[in-house]
Amino acid sequence: MESNFRYIDENLKIICENINEAYEKYRKKGEKIRVMAVTKTVAPEAVNHAISLGIDLLGENRVQEYLSKADYYAKQGACGNPTEVQFIGHLQTNKVKYIINSVSMIQSVDSVKLAAEINRLAKANDKVMDVLCEVNIGGEASKSGVSPDELYGLLEEVSEMRNIRVKGLMTIPPPSGSDVFLGRMQELFRNAADRNIRGVDMDVLSMGMTHDYAEAVKYGSTLVRIGTGLFGERIYK
Ligand SMILES: *Cc1c(COP(=O)(O)O)cnc(C)c1O
Repeated sequence: MESNFRYIDENLKIICENINEAYEKYRKKGEKIRVMAVTKTVAPEAVNHAISLGIDLLGENRVQEYLSKADYYAKQGACGNPTEVQFIGHLQTNKVKYIINSVSMIQSVDSVKLAAEINRLAKANDKVMDVLCEVNIGGEASKSGVSPDELYGLLEEVSEMRNIRVKGLMTIPPPSGSDVFLGRMQELFRNAADRNIRGVDMDVLSMGMTHDYAEAVKYGSTLVRIGTGLFGERIYK
């Protein structure tokens, strides 16, 4: 193993310790938490090192960047787990076609228009695409995602689409005071599950990044998305 990536070993160890600590304190035994490595700006060699350490889930933000790196990613880790790629960035409808066959989930569905295009292309490719609906829990103008009020309408509409399957929710809470928003998100996730909308599962709550993943575990996250905490500071955001 290349020693120049040893910082990734260290970072992953710390991340797992912090997750385990929060898990022991706040979560029920048997609940699963996945760690996604967010790869934006990160060289495939570094990503592959993380895969060799057991990371089996990658998060991609930018379609072009992903396409340029996809071929260089290790297809499986040291213990044989296949590498899964999910899309987490803002997605324009005209770019769905580039990723429809290479990602296992699109976490950033925030409009009926985008959902309809995913549904159309999934059908054309004879598949059912798993998605999460993105919620702008802090109501920030700069962020994508539907407001909590708009969520149920979106879920109802997407539930009618045959080639798309809602698996849960994703959010990027405001950087400060995120405790409150994490709690609100957990509540929204539970309420959405309680509605029992046909064809909609609430299995995945994708919440928590480098600065708040331990908190997110406290508030029910099932999937944390970590970039800088694993790979170090990015050159650009
Ligand atoms: C960049 C990004 C992350 C990871 O952010 P870090 O703070 O580097 O951990 C997680 N989710 C999304 C949607 C992102 O764009």
